[in-house]
Amino acid sequence: MAARRRAPPEGERARALEIVERLERAMPEARIALRFEDPLQLLVAVILSAQSTDAGVNRVTPALFAAFPDAAALARAAPEELVPLIRSLGLHRNKARAIVGAARAIVAHHGAQVPRSRAALEALPGVGPKTAGVVLVHLGAEAAFPVDTHVGRLARRMGLSRAADPDGVEVDLRALLPVERWGRGHQLLVWHGRRCCAARAPACSRCPVADLCPRRGVPEAIRR
Ligand code: SF4
Repeated sequence: MAARRRAPPEGERARALEIVERLERAMPEARIALRFEDPLQLLVAVILSAQSTDAGVNRVTPALFAAFPDAAALARAAPEELVPLIRSLGLHRNKARAIVGAARAIVAHHGAQVPRSRAALEALPGVGPKTAGVVLVHLGAEAAFPVDTHVGRLARRMGLSRAADPDGVEVDLRALLPVERWGRGHQLLVWHGRRCCAARAPACSRCPVADLCPRRGVPEAIRR
């Protein structure tokens, strides 16, 4: 995580909070779309979701979780055994290696339980800051504001961050919003990015936060 920056002005914090509150009113149903029943399934699903859709992940995980029901089963497997079950996803060989490597570390160092701290999660093979943050948020284990491609794009368009890298965006968003809004803020920005503020053609004319958004870096020609 990048170093802490100077506290943002009160007006910017109020604007950020208003954006999150309006998105909450517009999309109270916003929830993680990945399906999971326990912390290990959550971790595996988030690893699989890199550069893949949640729907695509949800199609492969029932068979994967049935074949490998716990960390011990995954730790005993060779990565090649997972490949046929996740072949429809991009980067499936890398993801298979990451899942088995993470499971082996979880069994070896964490009593076969998914760790509940950012430091321990990020120490697992194949687990970066975004994956760790999403797991922490949905386990309610530690405050985090995970920054994926949607959150980064929206934060920059909305003028909430000028950072180009996810770590820098997370630092800016954490400074703007109270800690109890971080996890929900992440989820709402992800949904708003999928439903309205799309990468190629943001639907500014029907956006619930249009009057709060400077639309930075959004050419007039691509707005709808
Ligand atoms: S006004 Fe446009 S650019 Fe700004 S958040 Fe809404 S859809 Fe995205």
